[in-house]
Amino acid sequence: MSLPPFMLLRPRRLDEAVVRLADYGPEAMIVAGGTDVVPNLRAGLFSPRALVDIKGIGELGGIRFDPRSGLELGALTTLTAIAESSVVQEHYRVLAEAAGTVASPVLRNMGTLGGNLCLETRCLWYNQSTVWRKACGFCLKKDGTVCHVAPGGERCWAVWSGDTAAALMTLDAEIEIASPRGRRRMPLTEFYKNDGMDRIRLGRDEILSGVRVPARLAGYRGSYQKLRIRSAIDYPLAGVAVAMQLENGICRDVRLGLTAVNPAPLLVREVGELLRGQRFSPEAVEAAAHAVIRTGKPLKTSVSTPEYRRDMLRVFARRALTRLWSSNGGH
Ligand SMILES: Cc1cc2nc3c(=O)[nH]c(=O)nc-3n(C[C@H](O)[C@H](O)[C@H](O)COP(=O)(O)OP(=O)(O)OC[C@H]3O[C@@H](n4cnc5c(N)ncnc54)[C@H](O)[C@@H]3O)c2cc1C
Ligand code: SF4
Repeated sequence: MSLPPFMLLRPRRLDEAVVRLADYGPEAMIVAGGTDVVPNLRAGLFSPRALVDIKGIGELGGIRFDPRSGLELGALTTLTAIAESSVVQEHYRVLAEAAGTVASPVLRNMGTLGGNLCLETRCLWYNQSTVWRKACGFCLKKDGTVCHVAPGGERCWAVWSGDTAAALMTLDAEIEIASPRGRRRMPLTEFYKNDGMDRIRLGRDEILSGVRVPARLAGYRGSYQKLRIRSAIDYPLAGVAVAMQLENGICRDVRLGLTAVNPAPLLVREVGELLRGQRFSPEAVEAAAHAVIRTGKPLKTSVSTPEYRRDMLRVFARRALTRLWSSNGGH
């Protein structure tokens, strides 16, 4: 479990960092907080020639809110800063809750938003030491030929296991991506490929530089519900994020996101179609919870059973919607 040899590059500016990435191409890897990269390097999952440490790039930090333009978060903003930000707590509650459940306090102090949105997918058969994986003949995702989760298939079903992406999707977030060719923006919902092997739409010379959340979603009620083995530290095994706008008890808008059950985080758009314009009723909540379990497709990628994780999606959807629709809301 020791680290492989690599060259450590420490650019101080974003334009320099993307040029370094372009120079090394597939042999480079970005490191921000390192809380995902370093354990993966130790497990022998990657052996980059160059690690591009972006932590010293000042322009990638900070939380800015303007009531007209919304929220801007730099990619290096730590999860602690997001969870504890009074602006995020007040205006974008679902994001503060999701960030506050990531890992443990120490990991949230080191872990960044950019790293959280670009995590590697996870699987019981993959996130293991080389010796462990070798004993099982490795797997399709690295060094092997068989998927132990869905044998016979040619796809990797490793799971998207980050917490903030689903929450940000409920808030219609956009990401900003920097490269040697300039900057581009993309809705977060389009960033993920739903492929356990090749998870995100990011070129080798690109860096996720920031996240924007529109002003029109400020003030939505929000709730994030998460299943994990040890509530003090673990990755999600299932997660449900909800952002809701209510007016006199009527649901004017609602967005529900899922994480940790598919190879990508995603929005369950049917929930909005079912609930917009409705008053609270157990039947309406139940219909939405059904839409959720039709969309979430957990497989045997973790020690918890797919059946239990799927059942918990229903419980979380019911719990979050009921809590937010009650008279005093989620906060
Ligand atoms: C014990 C343990 C428990 C954990 N529990 C959770 C959990 O509950 N929920 C959760 O979401 N995560 C969890 N994590 C994972 C991790 O701590 C967090 O996701 C953290 O936010 C990752 O951020 P980082 O800055 O440390 O990322 P890094 O480890 O630096 O990078 C992660 C990935 O993103 C890429 N990357 C980083 N920044 C950028 C960028 N700006 N642009 C493009 N690519 C980038 C890296 O190349 C790498 O592939 C856990 C980790 C550990 C060790
Ligand atoms: S889903 Fe299959 S191919 Fe992907 S990491 Fe797991 S065992 Fe390997």
